[in-house]
Amino acid sequence: MSTAFLVTLDGRVHDVAKPFLHADDLAALRGDGVFETVLVRGGKALKLDLHLERLAGSARQLGLPQVEAETWVKAAEAAAREWGAEREGMMRLVLSRGRESAPVEDRPPTAFLYLSQVSEATLARRANGVGAVTLERGFSADLGARAPWLLLGAKTLSYAVNMAALREAAKRGAQDVIFLDTSGQVLEGPTATVIATSGGTLRTPPPNEGILYGTTMRALFRHAEQIGLSCRVEPLVKDDLLAADGVWLVSSVALATRVHTLDGEALRQPAEALDLRPLVDAALGQELV
Ligand code: PLP
Repeated sequence: MSTAFLVTLDGRVHDVAKPFLHADDLAALRGDGVFETVLVRGGKALKLDLHLERLAGSARQLGLPQVEAETWVKAAEAAAREWGAEREGMMRLVLSRGRESAPVEDRPPTAFLYLSQVSEATLARRANGVGAVTLERGFSADLGARAPWLLLGAKTLSYAVNMAALREAAKRGAQDVIFLDTSGQVLEGPTATVIATSGGTLRTPPPNEGILYGTTMRALFRHAEQIGLSCRVEPLVKDDLLAADGVWLVSSVALATRVHTLDGEALRQPAEALDLRPLVDAALGQELV
């Protein structure tokens, strides 16, 4: 069984052992493009509609050609079927501005789907949770609205800062990060949305232009409200996290990861604290119907 494969929007499956991108692709030279990471489970690409909605929004923010949802759906569904129902997979949908050497006025974008295995490290995070550190992000939560060129709400290919933050966390003996804005407001993780729970209430920072509009959070909140939990979108500060029953990082492939330690301090975990893992699973299962 193949451990990775590559599909283009025409439905062609490519040999991953062969080179694919040109050296002058603007994804490689400038990180100039957008992407989505989708969980494949049971031979299906989960909550694909939400991912394609965000991909289209990110592409609009970067002035990339319009995302034709139908074409992506066909390719993603075919790729997920090919991957099979027995194992989970991580599917990246990638759209870059194309080759630098192509004429600007007629430059075809580069688009592909890349499927690979969910790493052992990700499975361990789901099971065991993580220690996290707070790191400053250097802007205020409302900057995105004032400075759209910073692309704060877009999922761009430029993830070098996010990866550097994770390395900084590792240096400090932690596995993840919660970014804070200049006034101490909680933003998001480098690859996940922050959710704090207290009793039967779930809270997440406003996904305005400063942070990504998480698809896992959206699916979870929809399900949680259906089963009578209360979901609130409101500004949070670090003290809110310290006082909460639980702090979670949620994202499409790692799903719900409990933060057990923040800046070296063990977080509260009362016996009645909500476990978001079965709730996220139920929220994703619902989408399959
Ligand atoms: N915030 C950032 C910066 C991310 O990179 C991600 C996912 O990769 C998320 C939030 C969570 O988004 P989703 O739940 O759609 O995976």
